[in-house]
Amino acid sequence: MAGPQRPRLAVWKFASCDGCQLSLLDCEDDLLALAGAVEIANFPEASSAIVEGPYDLSLVEGSITTLHDARRIQEVRAQSKHLVTIGACATAGGIQALRNFADVADFVAAVYASPEYIDTLATSMPVSAHVAVDYELHGCPINKVQLLEVISAYLAHRKPVIATHSVCIECKQRGTVCVMVQGTPCLGPVTHAGCGAICPAYRRGCYGCYGPMETPNMQALTKEWRDLGASPRDVERALRTFNAWAEPFRQASGSHDD
Ligand code: SF4
Ligand code: SF4
Ligand code: SF4
Repeated sequence: MAGPQRPRLAVWKFASCDGCQLSLLDCEDDLLALAGAVEIANFPEASSAIVEGPYDLSLVEGSITTLHDARRIQEVRAQSKHLVTIGACATAGGIQALRNFADVADFVAAVYASPEYIDTLATSMPVSAHVAVDYELHGCPINKVQLLEVISAYLAHRKPVIATHSVCIECKQRGTVCVMVQGTPCLGPVTHAGCGAICPAYRRGCYGCYGPMETPNMQALTKEWRDLGASPRDVERALRTFNAWAEPFRQASGSHDD
């Protein structure tokens, strides 16, 4: 006799490196439990067996960079009851959003011998710029524990419990001496928690791969960096890395005088 139908999970890739999908595969023992709780119906990174939609939960990795993908994300949304974006590409346009500050035609001409064959949009945008998104999970790549929490919360019909504070709190929790007080610029005060403050634990500044925290004080952070000797260009380069098109980072990265 057939048991109760499990919620159908789909995982989608857009412009990205696959690192966030690998975080899901990296869940190891938890993946077995997950496979018991949901039907992994569409996950080409893991299996060529694909079950047709609609899907109960879609995890979307990657940014929207082509007209084809702009249409495809509409189809994904239409097939998904609940849609969660995972990673810096999907939530903030990713590294590829650096094109948004320049002319993409210049990049294409610099990289490809025959640029006339390249069909791309002028911008790399987060998924939320195209369709409604139910939850955004940050990080480059995402943290697998946070991902499991998001999926568990969906299954339990509750909100995910994901800390919204900065990396600084995680530094304090693990007892790391602040690198800023020793003269190393750090983006931790404005960066979303999730990594456990890995970089400061190895005596280097955070470079913001988890994107902006909920209420970042960009002005204070920028001033602190300048006081430590960072040039406007240093600040711009730090903010324009993984999450350059996230609104607080985007605004602050273009707001200083040389
Ligand atoms: S957010 Fe980072 S790890 Fe995830 S797909 Fe984009 S580039 Fe890869
Ligand atoms: S090292 Fe960076 S993240 Fe850690 S407390 Fe200092 S400023 Fe915050
Ligand atoms: S760059 Fe910042 S957010 Fe990313 S792993 Fe390092 S400390 Fe964590």
